[in-house]
Amino acid sequence: MDKKIYMDHSATTPVDPEVFAAMMPFYQYRFGNPSSIHSIGRDARIGLVEAREKTAALINAVPEEIIFCSGGTEANNLAITSYMETNRNQGNHIITSAIEHDAVLDTCHYLESRGFDLTVLPVDPYGQVEPNQLRAAIRPNTALVSIMHANNEIGTIQPLKKLVEITHEAGVVFHTDAVQTTGKIPVDIKHLGVDMLSASSHKFYGPKGIGFLYVKKGITLERLIHGGGQESKRRAGTENVPGIVGMAKAAEIATNNMQETQKKTTYLGHYLMKGIIDTIPDTRITGHPEHRLPGSVSVCFDYVEGESIVLMLDHKGVMSSSGSACTSGTLEPSHVLRAIGLKSETAHGSLRLTLGKNNTLEEVQYVLQALPPIITSLRNMSPLYSEA
Ligand SMILES: *Cc1c(COP(=O)(O)O)cnc(C)c1O
Repeated sequence: MDKKIYMDHSATTPVDPEVFAAMMPFYQYRFGNPSSIHSIGRDARIGLVEAREKTAALINAVPEEIIFCSGGTEANNLAITSYMETNRNQGNHIITSAIEHDAVLDTCHYLESRGFDLTVLPVDPYGQVEPNQLRAAIRPNTALVSIMHANNEIGTIQPLKKLVEITHEAGVVFHTDAVQTTGKIPVDIKHLGVDMLSASSHKFYGPKGIGFLYVKKGITLERLIHGGGQESKRRAGTENVPGIVGMAKAAEIATNNMQETQKKTTYLGHYLMKGIIDTIPDTRITGHPEHRLPGSVSVCFDYVEGESIVLMLDHKGVMSSSGSACTSGTLEPSHVLRAIGLKSETAHGSLRLTLGKNNTLEEVQYVLQALPPIITSLRNMSPLYSEA
């Protein structure tokens, strides 16, 4: 079977051909070190400066507010660890949510092990943080609130503006992991009001291993990675110029095509979700019915194993995931599915299909043909199902 239908865009996306083309010169004749003062170095530096402008424009920031780094994981580590360590005088309490990506949760737990205080807020059954619970959790020693913009597993978008307002009323700084929204839906730091924001290029058709942290002017962060003076002394190491240029090109394309892509993936996502619910009994949607990422379909099928569905879909040429791509491989249902209160039996049958700009209606229809017999055959093998 050589059919390949890719529906795992929340895990990663293919590099756009235009992005690839924009990167090539920076591997070839514009390969200089941007810190070198000769002409090839200056040529690289010009590429870097332009890329910073384009990247900043994606989120309505200014270039000096962008720190390039190796991706979403590093941006989250930098925001949380550096902020807490640099601003110890502001307090030692961090607030986050139970459905964050491991890059946030694990970092917060690390800091907790080093003596910081941590509150992990629960979420409602749709995966949203209740604003009043955030308000109640803020203490005089709270220094930072870190809550993601949209969840990678269930697609739920947080009422971020409201959460930021509450945080700012208490004079506390707000960071958001916006890796799933940046380049996908409009993300405007002025509108949202956030103080720090993490994003990653490979989630919006740019190359892997590159991302950025937005840090609002006036906020001080000591660097995590020590060495040379790059990134205004906030992240040492020779810049990944081809990656940065590629991300900037991806940002530009994302901005230009956003409305069109969003409309298409929203339509196809609804079509797929409705098709699944209508044809397969004992199925439930996970995540918020309206406030969710366009094209993000996440469901749970009772009495089956998510991993088995993913493998059988793969056999039919369809790429999907279950729980989270990062936690797949363990038998525990993901922390996100547990946090929204799913019973373990239900959470085990999770399937995530995340659509992208190149998916077609024919592909969605193919999946709607392929999936029901897979669920039926898996249920027929399940002792739990025959008893039900
Ligand atoms: C993918 C992802 C990350 C990690 O980004 P990398 O660039 O792969 O390190 C962080 N947070 C969320 C929500 C993600 O989806």
